[in-house]
Amino acid sequence: MTEKKTLRFGLAGFPVGHSVSPELHRRLFEVKRVQAEYRLFEIPPDRLAEKADFLLSLDGCNITIPHKQAIIPFLNGLSKEARCFGAVNTLHGGQGFNTDVAGFARSLSMLCGGSLPQRALVLGAGGTASMMIGYLLSKGVSVTVSVRSPKSASVKALTERYGGQVPVQPLDSISGGFPLVCNATPCGMYPKSDAAPLSEQALSGVQFLFDAIYNPGKTLLARRAEALGARTLCGMTMLVYQAAAAEELWLGTTFSEVELAPVIREMELLTAAKYEAAGRHVLLSGFMGSGKSFYGRRLAGSLGLPFVDSDEEIVAAAGMPVPDIFAAKGEEGFRRLEQETVLKLLARSERSVLALGGGALHYGDNAQRFRKHGYLVFVDTPFETCLSRIKGDKNRPNAAGDVRTLYDRRLPLYRQSADYCFKP
Ligand code: NAP
Repeated sequence: MTEKKTLRFGLAGFPVGHSVSPELHRRLFEVKRVQAEYRLFEIPPDRLAEKADFLLSLDGCNITIPHKQAIIPFLNGLSKEARCFGAVNTLHGGQGFNTDVAGFARSLSMLCGGSLPQRALVLGAGGTASMMIGYLLSKGVSVTVSVRSPKSASVKALTERYGGQVPVQPLDSISGGFPLVCNATPCGMYPKSDAAPLSEQALSGVQFLFDAIYNPGKTLLARRAEALGARTLCGMTMLVYQAAAAEELWLGTTFSEVELAPVIREMELLTAAKYEAAGRHVLLSGFMGSGKSFYGRRLAGSLGLPFVDSDEEIVAAAGMPVPDIFAAKGEEGFRRLEQETVLKLLARSERSVLALGGGALHYGDNAQRFRKHGYLVFVDTPFETCLSRIKGDKNRPNAAGDVRTLYDRRLPLYRQSADYCFKP
């Protein structure tokens, strides 16, 4: 029997340590059941020339800052998009591609539906802004650019690229009236997530807002636009779609929206747990069969943290399975043991991802106490899915009763106490 070959992919940039690309691509490979590895290659600018052959020898590679332009002389050719934007983010077969455009285009079509508004405001003048402007102009949208420093070299480059087609205005002079606003600045990105490039007043009249930032999952700018009644979309969708477009090239496959939607949601959960939960334990709450252990294990793996299943800890501490604890001590006795076990785990200084029992939050003041030490994620799985997973499970004493009533009774507290609601 011949062994299946592991395909080799990666991301080259400098620095790349904080990239979520390995996790994202791993999930996409999983969707297509492809055996592949995706590694990070930290290559300083002065070493790109000596590493270029290696990067081209891989089955596929992503390229990020500062190599998006510098890689071009080492390639056999460029795709139309890479040539048009003068930037490469994907290598395949010796050629350079730019899949950010596909990521942006698919995000905009999800946000705005079939037709784009006639006028748009793009914030920023870097590589991403330039790509957005080029795409919007190609779709017949009239674009205004807004920046904090109108005399910068990047504004000059942008003006040269697009000639007189794009008026440039300082950010503090914007007074609204743009139905579509696209943010391509890092303003509002974690840890400075209480900043936004535009005030509510400058957003007046906005109908659609796209923010390229994906961490936090919803920026202050997006929240401001939503308060004005706009539809918004933040950057994780673009990030996932550009990664999927790269894999479509590498693997000769296509990804559907249905396949990508859960990847986007899981990647949003990962960034929330990585940045918003910073320093705290991550606790997963939710009904029996909601997938707390499954997603908890994956999240722990991605975050490089230990995973703990509170039921397993209780069973180990009591020296008997859950149904026996219920039989010996009643549900009240089990809940007390559960409270004690979880509080002990939360008191540990080493962070962990912890899956709670389905009724853990509903005992005494557990919800408040657990939240003090942990970032609470509610795994919001529909009742029917939970039911199909727990039916006939002898290890779950509460699965034998009226589970629908129990689900309805527990749902409000899961929601109210959650720092983050994750719909698998
Ligand atoms: P870039 O080339 O460094 O350009 C950044 C632009 O933002 C510059 O015009 C810069 O202006 C401006 N800017 C920086 N800080 C600002 C602030 N505090 N207030 C107002 N303007 C500010 O970066 P880029 O590669 O285009 O990326 C821009 C953003 O898009 C980043 O947040 C990045 O994470 C995000 N992005 C997301 C995706 C995705 O898939 N979701 C893909 C690519 C990029 P100055 O010249 O004045 O500094």
